[in-house]
Amino acid sequence: MNIHEYQAKELLAKFGVPVPAGHAAMSVDEAVEAAKQLPGPLWVVKAQIHAGGRGKGKFKELGPDAKGGVRLAKSVDEVRANAEEMLGKTLVTIQTGAEGKQVQRLYITDGVDIAKEFYLALLVDRATGRVAIVASTEGGMDIEQVAHDAPEKIHTITVDPATGLMPHHGRAVAAALGLSGDLAKQAANVTAKLYDAFLGTDASQIEINPLAITEDNKLMVLDAKVGFDSNAMFRHKDLAELRDLTEEDPMEIEASKYDLAYIKLDGDIGCMVNGAGLAMATMDIIKLNGAFPANFLDVGGGASKEKVTAAFKIILSDPAVKGILVNIFGGIMRCDTIAEGIVAAAREVDLDVPLVVRLEGTNVSQGKEILANSGLPIVAANDLGDAARKIVAQVKVAA
Ligand code: GDP
Ligand code: MG
Repeated sequence: MNIHEYQAKELLAKFGVPVPAGHAAMSVDEAVEAAKQLPGPLWVVKAQIHAGGRGKGKFKELGPDAKGGVRLAKSVDEVRANAEEMLGKTLVTIQTGAEGKQVQRLYITDGVDIAKEFYLALLVDRATGRVAIVASTEGGMDIEQVAHDAPEKIHTITVDPATGLMPHHGRAVAAALGLSGDLAKQAANVTAKLYDAFLGTDASQIEINPLAITEDNKLMVLDAKVGFDSNAMFRHKDLAELRDLTEEDPMEIEASKYDLAYIKLDGDIGCMVNGAGLAMATMDIIKLNGAFPANFLDVGGGASKEKVTAAFKIILSDPAVKGILVNIFGGIMRCDTIAEGIVAAAREVDLDVPLVVRLEGTNVSQGKEILANSGLPIVAANDLGDAARKIVAQVKVAA
């Protein structure tokens, strides 16, 4: 689960991380009010969307010469003019895709005089099973380019969970950023606070870019991207409330209501599978047969008929889906339950795409019988390879 920059900064400030003062605004009037509460003489008007690259982004509705999604303003009137221009418009950045994202919120912050921009991030490093701290002197708007062209400028320091963050980690971050004296102390301090925030919120990612040195030699977090482990949100009810549903795919929202692990993808074959491993294998074998999956969907081990029906409807509501492959191993979940769910869902929605079903496991013969007697045009498959070949062939014929 991701949150907006203003929410991330308010959260990090609670952990003692230095951030500029600022206020969120949903309207031009609120933006003006927010600006009046800040001292000036410099303000920053920042589009709040769940995507980076806003500074270099372009608004669809404005000309190519218009400014991007992060703008400096030298008066309250300039804040007003920028807010008027940005709110409701569609911002396209390297992270939004070509369709862009509508700007519904702004963040008005105190403008900072920047001497230098660094990059500092904390994330879960699955290879080492540790929290990794990534630091670079080359912060600012082109970190992806730096990672590509000069990877030696990006330093990674991992933290052993048995010891937690130690003073030497802070010194290593300061060294990676080329800092000494008081600034090195500040870097160690910011690192420790970020680490507390990371653990304390079950974050999966905290990315600070830029971490700025101000003209008066203070380290300051100017941009923060924070994401949490969704599986841990049950113990952070206050954080769960920060979720902005307008930023999420409507089908993924629907899926989360039923506790289904659903991720929309670009292909045209919808998949309904139980178990993440089987789902991955199913997507692989679809690709092997020359087609692309429209989604990842794991209905889980103990899914009910209602859950299967919901899953089926979610797949069918995606207009890109040209065919469906159901691949279920009935272990905890019985094949007849799955079959009933499939039949019920297919009857409820007008099933107008080919459907191939591969069932295996507990009560498989009853399951197959339910499908065969349903009167629905369901193609049965015997194994994974057979199922993939059949659905790919059916979709090609239909095209
Ligand atoms: P992003 O483009 O989505 O990563 O948005 P950022 O919040 O990182 O802003 C983009 C750039 O705007 C930063 O890299 C800074 O160069 C600049 N910027 C952001 N805040 C300030 C500020 O307070 N003062 C100045 N002078 N520049 C800022
Ligand atoms: Mg940034």
